[in-house]
Amino acid sequence: MILIVLKDKKDYDRLEPEFRDKVNSYICFARWYVPYYRRSLQDFCADFSRYYEMPLTKDDSLSSDPLSFVAFQDRVVRATTSGGTSGKRKMIFRTEEDLDRSVDTVAKVFRGAGVKRGDRIAILQPFDMWNIGHHAMAAFQRIGALSFPLGLSGTDEYVLWILEKLCCNVIFATPSRASFLASLHKGGLCLERVLCTGEPILEAHRESVRKAWGAEIFGTYGTEEVDGIAYECAAHDGYHLVDEDLIVEILDPETLMPAGGRTGLLVLSKINRTGTVLLRYSVGDIVEVDEKPCRCGSSMPRIKFIRRASEIIYLYNGLKISLQPIEGAIRSVLGYVPLYQIILEGSGGKEVMTLVIQKGGSDEVRDRVLRSFLSSIPDLEEAYALDKTIEIKVVLDASFSSFSMTGRGKLPRVVDRRKPQP
Ligand SMILES: [Zn+2]
Repeated sequence: MILIVLKDKKDYDRLEPEFRDKVNSYICFARWYVPYYRRSLQDFCADFSRYYEMPLTKDDSLSSDPLSFVAFQDRVVRATTSGGTSGKRKMIFRTEEDLDRSVDTVAKVFRGAGVKRGDRIAILQPFDMWNIGHHAMAAFQRIGALSFPLGLSGTDEYVLWILEKLCCNVIFATPSRASFLASLHKGGLCLERVLCTGEPILEAHRESVRKAWGAEIFGTYGTEEVDGIAYECAAHDGYHLVDEDLIVEILDPETLMPAGGRTGLLVLSKINRTGTVLLRYSVGDIVEVDEKPCRCGSSMPRIKFIRRASEIIYLYNGLKISLQPIEGAIRSVLGYVPLYQIILEGSGGKEVMTLVIQKGGSDEVRDRVLRSFLSSIPDLEEAYALDKTIEIKVVLDASFSSFSMTGRGKLPRVVDRRKPQP
């Protein structure tokens, strides 16, 4: 059993010898069998106390040469892709042992999130070339729950018909898709639990499924590269890590050295893979780690998602805007943060930034949000008022018609439709 959370340089020294040996031998394994690590680790001696000096694995290396990350090419039995929000697709290969361990971990995640034998679960997550649907179905089978693998191809009417006709009590979807379905269908369903992954869960998502169906959202955390690794318990105060073959590091996002505190860039290593091997891989999220025992009684450490590391809007006039002040501005007017999206259009000469908020309201409320938005970012206010390089609009829309949803049912916070600079 091994689950290591490292935040400070001295944490790397404190590991028990048995764990240290296990990790060191896996580093040696990677250096021997995995072409990428044979090159990148040739100067790194397998010594865990200096693990933080080992170079991070970049996701563009994985997308440009996925086979160079595979240990036993002759034993892989499944290929899947990841990609989506950050753009370039990455190919992941799993051996039979990898799949077995993945499903085991994913089953722990779902059990933690309350799934039990006899549940009837509609899976509204992708299958095809993505792991997530396949892993979920195999994990539900292991738990003894009944799956309806709807994937993403069913229309909303069809999905709602299945949910009603077959009395599904659980759905597994993105929070945006669940909220959208809840907006179409109030009441009359057997739903108790909405399992979510794929994007941050806002209070507005929880509220919409609670109001429509009386159901509760339980988040799960993971990525295609590392599978599901954590779940939200009934205390709804962070996500418990379950994966026992996982090393969790919290790094300073600027220096990429141990953060020295509880918040930082999440970097993961799985030390049991024989297909695609990833050591010190950043999934691009800033998280806070909490090792205090939870109200639910579990002492497993929890992570809390803070933001995407790269969720910064770059404007042509040189401004960098993060989403926190924007959310703060919305909250100061409305008292909470509903679903929202920022749509960027135009080009270098004139950019248009539209803030779409899922809420009905008068022109007066809309103007207050706009003023609050501008005053929270003085540089933006100056660009808007003085040099007029950017136009800013606020749209209040209680339906979803002004939003742009991806094919995988996600509602990206930022949609960039700008034409490239000539
Ligand atoms: Zn808990």
